[in-house]
Amino acid sequence: MDPGAKILSLEQMDQWVASEKAAGRRIGFTCGSFDLLHAGHVQYLAAARDLCDRLIVAVNSDASVGRYKNPLRPIVPERERMYVIAGLAAVDAVTVLEDDRPLPLLLRWKPDLYIKGGDYQADELRSGDDVRAYGGKVEVIRPGFDTSSSKVIERIGALSAHTEPEAASAEAARGLVLLDRDGTLIRNVPFLHDPAKVELLPGVIDGLLKLQAAGLRLAIITNQQGIGLGYYTVQDFIAVNQRLLRELGARGIRISKIYFCPHSLAEQCSCRKPATGMVIRAMREFGASPEETFVVGDSDDDMQAGADAGCQTVRVGEKGFWASAVKILSLRQSVD
Ligand SMILES: [Zn+2]
Repeated sequence: MDPGAKILSLEQMDQWVASEKAAGRRIGFTCGSFDLLHAGHVQYLAAARDLCDRLIVAVNSDASVGRYKNPLRPIVPERERMYVIAGLAAVDAVTVLEDDRPLPLLLRWKPDLYIKGGDYQADELRSGDDVRAYGGKVEVIRPGFDTSSSKVIERIGALSAHTEPEAASAEAARGLVLLDRDGTLIRNVPFLHDPAKVELLPGVIDGLLKLQAAGLRLAIITNQQGIGLGYYTVQDFIAVNQRLLRELGARGIRISKIYFCPHSLAEQCSCRKPATGMVIRAMREFGASPEETFVVGDSDDDMQAGADAGCQTVRVGEKGFWASAVKILSLRQSVD
């Protein structure tokens, strides 16, 4: 059976719940984001199923995970998270949870049991009174494994942090290049959010290889006002970057970090270029002085952010990125 058959719309679930109840079955309900499925999830859902005859799992939508956890989450999109959950034997039906809290769904289906994992905070169980009011019962299951999606992600983050010094020590840090993205590395597409539209500009590959070979570290600093204006999401932005990093990586080019400002102009943040926030932060995190930091871009804002932070600036003009790379190396020699 295709697990997808267990994924039901709210209306389909209405019918399913009604028929299961009519057959005298005890319905359990639980919810969660289930971003990276781990042993704790599997143990928890199996234990939840032991308490009832039929288990419904409401999986938090991408939007709700972004709201209550972190705008960079989830890692796995909702359709895929629902599919994975539906593949578990313990789970009988899966639906999406658009709200931050499950109360509307609980009141809609009035399951016999509202089941939660024990690592939730008490205030998140405030639906409990409403469940008891319609005659349902709240069950809390203690976690059997000391793990979570966040811990898995933390571990992956720690791994990448640990490989970084290794790469850097092979070629002692001798400067930092902070690159604008749109109009500098890739063709400028207004409010770019489609990875298929990523197009490297002429000279970028050769120029970046030249800078990297000279021992300079590369990072991107980019204004992404489209996020703040709601034209596209952080996830869209990341997908575009993934495409860019893949194309550069295939040529042996390593971008160490991507700094981005998600704010709109109206928010008056300290990171949006021409403000210096991203440049200063990058220099601090890379341990680079302004003298050994080069800001490269195609706009006045790029140039101003770099100059105001005390860095050297190079504007990518009609001669393209290769000429800028040559310019950076000549500027650096004059510093030495
Ligand atoms: Zn900002």
